[in-house]
Amino acid sequence: MNRISVAIDGPSGAGKSTIARAAARTLGFLYVDTGALYRAIGLAVCRKGYDGRDREEVLSVLPEIKVELHYLMDIQRVCLNGEDVSELIRTPQISQFASRVSAIPEVREFLLDIQRDMAARNSVVMDGRDIGTVILPYAEVKIFLTASAEKRAERRCAELRERGEPAELSAVLASMAQRDAQDATRAVAPLRKARDAVLVDTSNLTLEQSIQAVLRIIRQAQQVR
Ligand code: C5P
Repeated sequence: MNRISVAIDGPSGAGKSTIARAAARTLGFLYVDTGALYRAIGLAVCRKGYDGRDREEVLSVLPEIKVELHYLMDIQRVCLNGEDVSELIRTPQISQFASRVSAIPEVREFLLDIQRDMAARNSVVMDGRDIGTVILPYAEVKIFLTASAEKRAERRCAELRERGEPAELSAVLASMAQRDAQDATRAVAPLRKARDAVLVDTSNLTLEQSIQAVLRIIRQAQQVR
């Protein structure tokens, strides 16, 4: 069977993971959340007591760690040296660490094979920042998912509150803007739309409408293959 790769990139809070996960489930593809890999490295760096800004410090951590993706049924788990850190990496602090370490070329190189391997072995819906541009430039389907900064911040706030974490809109908006700017202006693999990616703006779409829009694009691409 031919394997199909769907690359979904976009800024934080655009709904990438929820939409990509739902699309993958409908299609029977594996959902790969690549942000979890950068988050796991961010966590390792944080645990060392570093702030993630110093390249040499971050590089000193890489030889000591092994980052792996496992699937329980179709749920992705990320392991750091054998420890399942899937929940621990979901904090605003680790979001910032992930963004900092992800600007270091050697960190991106460190995570390249694990991502490409996943796509070589499975049909995937893979989400991140550079999937369509760098990781899977030959992906059959490329989507750039975005939404206005306000909408993205509102959704992230709701998500945090649902988890029982305090969230203030202006603070979430500010930290999101900072992370996006960091991701979009870094020298290596900056967040940007691949030339051949389809733009989906979810600002005025419900979650269900966004999922359907993405599924339509994938199915159309499958038909023309
Ligand atoms: O997607 P998520 O918000 O979990 O990603 C956390 C951080 O990891 C992003 O802000 C970005 O800096 C980095 N990242 C990346 N490339 C990817 C996925 C995530 O640089 N493919």
